Amino acid sequence: MSAPEPTAELGGAPLIDSHCHLQALESDERERAMDRARERGVSGFLVPALHLGEAEDVLEFCHRNPDTWCALGTHPHEASQWQEGDRERLRALLSDPKAVAVGECGLDFFYDHAPRQRQIEVMREQWSLAIELDLPVVVHNRESNEAMLAQLLQPEHEGLQADFHSFAGGLELGRELIELGFYLGFTGMITFKRADNVRQVIPEVPHDRMLVETDTPYLAPVPYRGKTNQPAYVVEIASRLAVECGESLADLAQRTSENFFALFTKAQGDSSA
Ligand SMILES: [Zn+2]
Repeated sequence: MSAPEPTAELGGAPLIDSHCHLQALESDERERAMDRARERGVSGFLVPALHLGEAEDVLEFCHRNPDTWCALGTHPHEASQWQEGDRERLRALLSDPKAVAVGECGLDFFYDHAPRQRQIEVMREQWSLAIELDLPVVVHNRESNEAMLAQLLQPEHEGLQADFHSFAGGLELGRELIELGFYLGFTGMITFKRADNVRQVIPEVPHDRMLVETDTPYLAPVPYRGKTNQPAYVVEIASRLAVECGESLADLAQRTSENFFALFTKAQGDSSA
């Protein structure tokens, strides 16, 4: 398949980067990166926090940017930081209109930065809070398919709404997640030469369950692979996704933006946007 046309037009359609860690960029670079993205037509950004210690800063940043929302929670890498009382602390933080999801949370059995049992407990705490508050979760899953699926199938997790961000879990898990009604987010990985295992899931995903994201500062798409990623490159990712789906970039951008607001409904109601 040939490379996507990087200058392809959005034709006025909205395009949202549904997962970018803008807090990882230096503050002046962050503003420049957002402006570059806006110049290319990127109309929204979701910033997932990695731990509760940065939640206030992330919220403050979102309040300064009408096109920016956040997920608040504790990443599996940081699961050991989760303390007694954090459920209540997170509940209070989530009352902010800019906090549209819980996360990012999940399991990472590749890096194992926290003990696996702890990762599972901390993810369960966050899922149960999300269900109670009727908020979606942003899920990180790496080398943990079996444990993830076991948790998803627990009866107490019925009603969970989720974005499986940077999906690379393979066809089998992909089909299970689709069956359960979850959303799958695709990153620059879909542009990598050796990523047939990621691309093969794309045709299986219903059109109303697909999201597009950069995962800034990681996973920059071709032709920027190896560089620091930035939200402007969501255009390259969306272009490739559109090619894989056999539709125009404008149509792909339009529907993934609609999907974003269908899942992250609080963003839809945010009057500052
Ligand atoms: Zn992330």
